[in-house]
Amino acid sequence: MTQVLAKVLVIAEHANGKLNVSTAKTIKAAASLAGAEVVVAVFSTAGSPVAAQAAQFAGVSRVLEVTHAANEHQLAATLAPQVAEVGKPFTHLFAPSTTFGKDLMPRVAALLDAPQLSDVMSIESATRFRRPIYAGNAITTVEVSAGAKVIATIRTASFEAAAAGGSAKVEAVASSAALPSHSRFVSLAAAAGDRPDLQSASKVISGGRALASADAFKLIYGLADKMGAAVGASRAAVDAGYAPNDMQVGQTGKIIAPELYIAIGISGAIQHLTGIKDARTIVAINKDSEAPIFEVADIGIVGDLFQIVPELEKLIDASRK
Ligand SMILES: Cc1cc2nc3c(=O)[nH]c(=O)nc-3n(C[C@H](O)[C@H](O)[C@H](O)COP(=O)(O)OP(=O)(O)OC[C@H]3O[C@@H](n4cnc5c(N)ncnc54)[C@H](O)[C@@H]3O)c2cc1C
Repeated sequence: MTQVLAKVLVIAEHANGKLNVSTAKTIKAAASLAGAEVVVAVFSTAGSPVAAQAAQFAGVSRVLEVTHAANEHQLAATLAPQVAEVGKPFTHLFAPSTTFGKDLMPRVAALLDAPQLSDVMSIESATRFRRPIYAGNAITTVEVSAGAKVIATIRTASFEAAAAGGSAKVEAVASSAALPSHSRFVSLAAAAGDRPDLQSASKVISGGRALASADAFKLIYGLADKMGAAVGASRAAVDAGYAPNDMQVGQTGKIIAPELYIAIGISGAIQHLTGIKDARTIVAINKDSEAPIFEVADIGIVGDLFQIVPELEKLIDASRK
């Protein structure tokens, strides 16, 4: 019998009855810890199919399902006390380093009076972790005191998704944690549309300051829709109001690892590059042949985006005829 050296609780991220792929990546990270028992906690409402989805991943030994009407909307303020309570017997509590996990885990760490470790990119042992600092320009190794509970967010771009093929048991767990009344769900303002989710899409097309207006940014949406890609933006494009804030890619936006990333009219500032350094293939379109984005691009096209993007669309249309 193998000895269990660590008990890891992975907090599932989900919405609309579907487990987010970030959870599968967090499970993979947890399973990379030698001798770990990996348990997934799903905080949902009665009748949700999410726990059954979590049970299907290889490497998961059990799924704890905590149902509560308050879990319909995954608010960090109401989830944190439940996570802290259910997580007590575990040595490690992991959540993806997405907006969900980054909002939730510091609250959990505070409630458990434990250290919070952000953006883990590799796990060397139960107490040693590696994470990027200075916008990804340096990697630091962090040692957590032995015996301390580890509350961590996992950099999803650094891990593959766990494979299917598991059949873990789902256990119903009751939580008696007092839920706060200071926060309540009012409404959700989400971008409507059928575009893939930026953080998990295999293809992403981003636009930068060069687009020069929200109206011109529609060029990016048009190309993305033709290619079935998600849309991202540089911070300059977001700050100027050409694209919404949740599309920002980079150090203070989303860290992504698509198969294909196309940067259009983006200079390639280090803070942007840190969000895309795990992309498999990077294509850059920029009129300045000296732009730093070309140093990381696998394919570079020098020219005016307002000419090149319509040409690309025509080529795509022609290839489909
Ligand atoms: C603490 C901090 C955090 C930050 N976080 C982020 C972040 O998360 N994400 C992020 O993106 N930035 C971030 N930034 C900002 C970052 O430093 C850059 O300012 C920003 O990325 C620049 O955006 P851009 O490339 O769209 O604009 P610019 O740097 O202005 O580049 C525009 C590019 O478009 C090209 N261009 C112009 N016209 C055309 C045309 N017609 N056709 C083709 N090319 C054209 C230009 O040659 C230029 O290279 C951060 C900065 C700081 C200080």
